[in-house]
Amino acid sequence: MKKYETPLLDELEKGPWPSFVKEIKTAATKSEMANDELGQLEKSYRDKRGYWKHGGIVGVLGYGGGVIGRYSSLPEEFPGVAHFHTVRINQPSGMYYKTDSLRTILDLWDEYGSGLTNMHGSTGDMVLLGCRTEALEPLFAEVSSRGWDLGGSGSALRTPACCLGQSRCEWANIDTMDICNELTQTYQDYVHRPAWPYKFKFKIAGCAIDCVASIARADCSVIGTWKGKIAVDQDVVKDYAKAGMNITEEIVNMCPTGCMSYDGKELKIDDTNCSRCMHCISKMTKALRPTGEKGASILIGSKAPIVVGSLLSWVVVPFIKMEPPYTEFKALVEKMWDWWDDNAKPRERIGEVIEMKGMRSFLEAIGVPPQPQQVFEPRKDPFFFWKEEDLNGNK
Ligand code: SF4
Ligand code: SF4
Repeated sequence: MKKYETPLLDELEKGPWPSFVKEIKTAATKSEMANDELGQLEKSYRDKRGYWKHGGIVGVLGYGGGVIGRYSSLPEEFPGVAHFHTVRINQPSGMYYKTDSLRTILDLWDEYGSGLTNMHGSTGDMVLLGCRTEALEPLFAEVSSRGWDLGGSGSALRTPACCLGQSRCEWANIDTMDICNELTQTYQDYVHRPAWPYKFKFKIAGCAIDCVASIARADCSVIGTWKGKIAVDQDVVKDYAKAGMNITEEIVNMCPTGCMSYDGKELKIDDTNCSRCMHCISKMTKALRPTGEKGASILIGSKAPIVVGSLLSWVVVPFIKMEPPYTEFKALVEKMWDWWDDNAKPRERIGEVIEMKGMRSFLEAIGVPPQPQQVFEPRKDPFFFWKEEDLNGNK
């Protein structure tokens, strides 16, 4: 194999943190594809331009997504990356793998592809980087015969993703992994056969700490919450204070709705004004605990900047019960999809269409009543006409 000098990439190996360059170099010792990837990448850094091009649709039979076509624009110079397609494998909920199954898939990937992976892509999939066109079908046959499936790509439902929820986390209000699996199984056709104006992502978080960053990255965020009060164990609050916690500064003043108070003895919460943000609970784990009915808030519309700027999700349903088979939630989602599909131009995400058409027409279409929290800012025109006498003495 050709040995490439990589002075620029070598810079990225320095420092105490893990380096993707180091990993590519390791893979390059046994893979010509990984080796030529190293050479092309160094050239890209040197010339300050990318040498990848999209050369048409590639995929496996019966699927419209799951493989992203990528070709080198310098195939003679770097034949190993002439074809360098990305294969997305649907990750298990919560990203739990048995060592055996992980070894199996990585052995297959060494056999059919470059050996390079990205664990995981920002959608959540296990990403296999660098496959030749003719190796796609045999790879897919091997992978799918072992129970794996492709993830989503293009204008499709993207592979749903979730936090690990009740499997390890005491704060999970909903069974995130079950919801994720159920949505993946129910809507497989939407994942595999792109049929929409653009992509649509579900991310499911067990609580508002939102370890899966659903509020910034999902067209539909499902975030676990609760209906009851926050139970306060005042003795344990005292223990926190004795241990040095500044409860006023660290807890009360950080409450986004200002619904907490502390007089040095007792911590009080006005639960009617609590937005269930989880700040206080995550800081005083032993003293505070959510109670009452558990369910989820449904938020809609976040995305990274492409057509318009980045958006964070809006709350559309403050509380919905999330019990298998999640019929109410699925019915709501399908109404959202219908409205979006009817109203979006190509490559418009649902959040962008809501921005354009207004939350009001979206809520009307899906049959959900408006919430005060959906108001961005007070009206600029209050329809109140001041008279001189109203102002006298009150200027
Ligand atoms: Fe736990 Fe909440 Fe994070 Fe899920 S989002 S892992 S429930 S803290
Ligand atoms: Fe305040 Fe958030 Fe705690 Fe509610 S959960 S009391 S909003 S800090």
